[in-house]
Amino acid sequence: MNLNGEKTIFEKIIDREVPAEIVEEDEHCILIRDINPCAPVHILIIPKKRVPRIAEAESDDEAMLGHLLFMAKKFAETHHLEQGFRLVINNGPHAQETVPHLHIHLIAGKWMAWPPC
Ligand code: AMP
Repeated sequence: MNLNGEKTIFEKIIDREVPAEIVEEDEHCILIRDINPCAPVHILIIPKKRVPRIAEAESDDEAMLGHLLFMAKKFAETHHLEQGFRLVINNGPHAQETVPHLHIHLIAGKWMAWPPC
């Protein structure tokens, strides 16, 4: 939900109210291609549970959070991202969070700059 109590774009995608390129799904999460990719591979790993951002995760969410990371590892393995990949979570306005539903960006397929800030 966003601040107005409406579904976020990611909840609408999870509920199949808005189309997206779904690359994987299980009972806990969905993996979609980012609509505005910043690299040849740009996937969003999104929990089905409504958690607005990592700062609002609760102790009950610990296993789900680990699952999201493991899904990233499995995606990297099956898509042969041996050259590297980056996982990013934007939390809050300073970090440029735009969708208030927790998600991990998995970015790969090009040389990336560091630091990112
Ligand atoms: P963040 O800035 O971390 O909140 O990232 C939100 C991401 O969601 C951005 O990279 C957007 O390009 C992406 N995004 C927004 N709407 C969609 C959509 N309908 N399908 C896929 N990705 C989306």
